[in-house]
Amino acid sequence: MKKKIKEHFPLKRFSQNFLINKNLIKKIVKFIDPQLKQILVEIGPGLGALTKPISNMIDELIVVEIDSNLLNVLKKRSFYSKLIVFCQDALVFDYFNLFYKKNRLLRIFGNLPYNISTSLLFCLFKKNKIIQDMNFMLQKEFAERLVASPGSKLYGRLSIIAQYYFNIKIIFNVSSENFRPIPKVDSTFVNLIPHKKSPYFTHDIKILSYITNVAFQKRRKILRHSLGQIFSEKIFFKLDINPKLRAENLSILQYCQLSNYVIENNILKK
Ligand code: SAM
Repeated sequence: MKKKIKEHFPLKRFSQNFLINKNLIKKIVKFIDPQLKQILVEIGPGLGALTKPISNMIDELIVVEIDSNLLNVLKKRSFYSKLIVFCQDALVFDYFNLFYKKNRLLRIFGNLPYNISTSLLFCLFKKNKIIQDMNFMLQKEFAERLVASPGSKLYGRLSIIAQYYFNIKIIFNVSSENFRPIPKVDSTFVNLIPHKKSPYFTHDIKILSYITNVAFQKRRKILRHSLGQIFSEKIFFKLDINPKLRAENLSILQYCQLSNYVIENNILKK
């Protein structure tokens, strides 16, 4: 039977696993360290586990929550008056509009709904220019993929695009016992800060994204085969990349090199 948490029946389709450990909540808030005048945006406030302590520290807190029932529960709380509420899908929320209105970089945080982590992070990566930092609770395996290095089984398109834009740090791991209902997976709290000066450069992120997508679709194959439709062996040698390596062995810099070669030589249009 479904168990009520406070006044709410948690919905699986919105990945509603609420934080219940007060010490853990304190640790997260201390790490986020909200300051007056900063523009803090919480994705999925839920029943307010992070919303309450954070809104108490600043003048206003922007929250984006898809479930109107949860917002009705929040309405009864004293801190509600501090909130600017958007009952909306975080995937379509207009972050740019908020940035232009406030004229300040955004600090985005949340115990994220794990079912939308991939699409949400790819959506936020593209907004790196208007973001000061992001602090998220994520599924542990997802967090490990974010920070994975070449050679690791977890290294892939997500790691490359994430690290292209952001400096990412695992802050701490969190066991599933700290949530209600208890999820099937463990979690990790992660900090992401956009590079001030990126160590990587590509003329067009769409091409980098395309090449990594093609390469990792056949991650067990050597590059000569997985990327053979785009690059001849001669090009690999020209770029000093061994075509017998696999997708997971190339660094982000090498993927940038490949994508820039494609653009500079008009390869995909030929
Ligand atoms: N912050 C609360 C906490 O830590 O207890 C709740 C976290 S719960 C894991 C995820 C929250 O995100 C839920 O409140 C859920 O309704 C909300 N949510 C799910 N999908 C969403 C979406 N697409 N856009 C905005 N909020 C969403």
